[in-house]
Amino acid sequence: MHITQDTAVTLDYRITDLQGKPLDAGTTAYLHGGYDNLFAQAEAALEGKTVGDKVALALSAAEAFGARDEALARSIPKSEFPPGVKVGGQLQGAGPNGPVVYRVVKIKGPEVLLDANHPLAGQDIRFAATVKAVRAATAEEIAHGHVHGAHGHHH
Ligand code: ZN
Repeated sequence: MHITQDTAVTLDYRITDLQGKPLDAGTTAYLHGGYDNLFAQAEAALEGKTVGDKVALALSAAEAFGARDEALARSIPKSEFPPGVKVGGQLQGAGPNGPVVYRVVKIKGPEVLLDANHPLAGQDIRFAATVKAVRAATAEEIAHGHVHGAHGHHH
């Protein structure tokens, strides 16, 4: 089976920076066909591919995880946090356009630096993937706009 509109695709993927430094890797399942589950350029490269095929492409930050939005980075006095605030922790807070999830990126003396940007926002990347499985998506998956099951959405 080939990747076409409304197929459920499982990929092994690897993301590096342009120099080849590993940033992320794993297995993911996505609904193919413009559901915004995967970078548009990666979907275009995967169109028509089948199990075992590989794609590799370079994506600008705008094509990948988007530009950094400095309005989503904030510094808060540590005294406003409950004890035990740790780098890597997450908390929901008010963002410029509604609630967002902030990551605690740094604790610098009395200040806690929070960032709600995607960790790879602003990063040009290389995206490489191998097609592991392709099947027709179910009507429910198409209605939801995402894939269910292993490596997909659980709910
Ligand atoms: Zn669903």
